[in-house]
Amino acid sequence: MEHHEWQDLQQTILREELYAKAALDFVRTDAVRLMERTLTLAYSDGIISSQEESDFGDLARLLRIPPGLLAPLQSELADLRAATSIREGHLPAVQTTVLLDAGEVAHLEVSATFRHVTATRSRDIVGRVVVTNRQIYFIGSAGEGGWNVQYGKILRIEERSDGVNLELSVKKGSGTYHHVTKPLILSATLDALVRLHKRLLLMPQTERASRSIPQNVKIAVWQRDQGKCVECGDNNYLEYDHVIPHSLGGASTENNLQLLCRRCNLQKSNKI
Ligand SMILES: [Zn+2]
Repeated sequence: MEHHEWQDLQQTILREELYAKAALDFVRTDAVRLMERTLTLAYSDGIISSQEESDFGDLARLLRIPPGLLAPLQSELADLRAATSIREGHLPAVQTTVLLDAGEVAHLEVSATFRHVTATRSRDIVGRVVVTNRQIYFIGSAGEGGWNVQYGKILRIEERSDGVNLELSVKKGSGTYHHVTKPLILSATLDALVRLHKRLLLMPQTERASRSIPQNVKIAVWQRDQGKCVECGDNNYLEYDHVIPHSLGGASTENNLQLLCRRCNLQKSNKI
């Protein structure tokens, strides 16, 4: 090959790479949305399998998602995997600074701020939450506040973006816990323990497996609901919800399915 032919070829390759780069830059926002959608589709049956996780990695490489944009998606993936496992009843045992009773096992310890609301004012109490198989402890870090809550006293758990709201049948400890280190993990842990306490926790995966939704139905529902929660419009942590619950004979069809965020889905399931 002549020297000028080499130069032409090199320039062509360089030009093509620039086109490819410009094209990828152009579709980057859509690519990130596609990645988010892939995560939601994968999590909709409550299980992130290792195959789905490796597909997710392949897609990220194919779309050349820059590390800065990929990091939050990867951290969401890790949280979803951990929350999935906890909701299925796999509760880890952790070390804690709280003195536990015989047979009591700690599952989670996170920092949290309790918002104490009275008729006249509201005040934040900084501390930490320790979740065990028997109860939930709150320990104020400045020596103020300190209580424990039995699972039977929980009326409702409302997931918040940075924590949880606990509605209790007793006054002490009822309210919102903010600034939680891992809010998704805390609510999954509480959710699993409350259900376990009520003896409603099914064997891992059996309930989820019976609820599996065909991929074409998932895609149709996603497109109809425009990739956001039909209740609040949030586009994070979306789940496929049966309008008429599966347990009451509701089918896994497009008409009986909608997109709900975890928070709205949790609220709905607490009302049923
Ligand atoms: Zn919502």
